[in-house]
Amino acid sequence: MSINETLTSIQERINRACDRAARTPDDVTLIAVSKGHPPERIREAADAGLTLFGENKVQELKLKRGQCPGNLKWDFIGHLQTNKCRDAAYFSRMIHSVDSDRVAEALQDACIKLAKTLPVLLEVNVSGEATKYGFSPNEVLNTLLELNTYDRLEIHGFMCMAPWAKEPEKSRPYFRRLKELQQEAEAILGAPLPELSMGMSGDFEIAIEEGATMVRLGTTLFGERKRKSVR
Ligand SMILES: *Cc1c(COP(=O)(O)O)cnc(C)c1O
Repeated sequence: MSINETLTSIQERINRACDRAARTPDDVTLIAVSKGHPPERIREAADAGLTLFGENKVQELKLKRGQCPGNLKWDFIGHLQTNKCRDAAYFSRMIHSVDSDRVAEALQDACIKLAKTLPVLLEVNVSGEATKYGFSPNEVLNTLLELNTYDRLEIHGFMCMAPWAKEPEKSRPYFRRLKELQQEAEAILGAPLPELSMGMSGDFEIAIEEGATMVRLGTTLFGERKRKSVR
């Protein structure tokens, strides 16, 4: 299948999931997760109309950005070390993976130096798996007001990953939990946190049914990566 055909079929799946949830497809943004794929594939995807790409390593993002059309936007979706925050803040449209106060503080400092404000999402470890990064649900509610004092970071919402499972349906409770957290957090903040970045190749339709506003798709769009990037 050409990337155009793949994209058409993904868009149809997004549309059908939106129908089931009485939502409009305009409210679901596709992030093309290009990690592990070379710039040529990204250029093909750009020719097919995609403009928003996701990377999980700062070095890879920096390198590819220079080798791809200048009109593309890049979201950062991986775990950040504090010493990489400056580059991440500089090169990204949005960071989906603010997973600790330390990272938030480092991004705030970076943004002051760069004289910019940065849209971010807080990553929540909704499954409580030891292998996953992110705030625990309680932690994110307890630190929200403090995180909101970083005036260079605009908190737009939350991100999560469901535990790996063969059946997509298994992801539903985790996505539902993130949606609930969004509502609890909005009540604490007294302001909207409109974005929910949830759903990957295996479970994005379930995520959309549960309220995802951004889905992060790698494998279903680009095929298997050579080396599985673990995070
Ligand atoms: C790799 C990755 C994705 C995409 O995963 P696929 O299963 O290939 O769609 C989405 N989100 C994050 C955070 C990732 O690291």
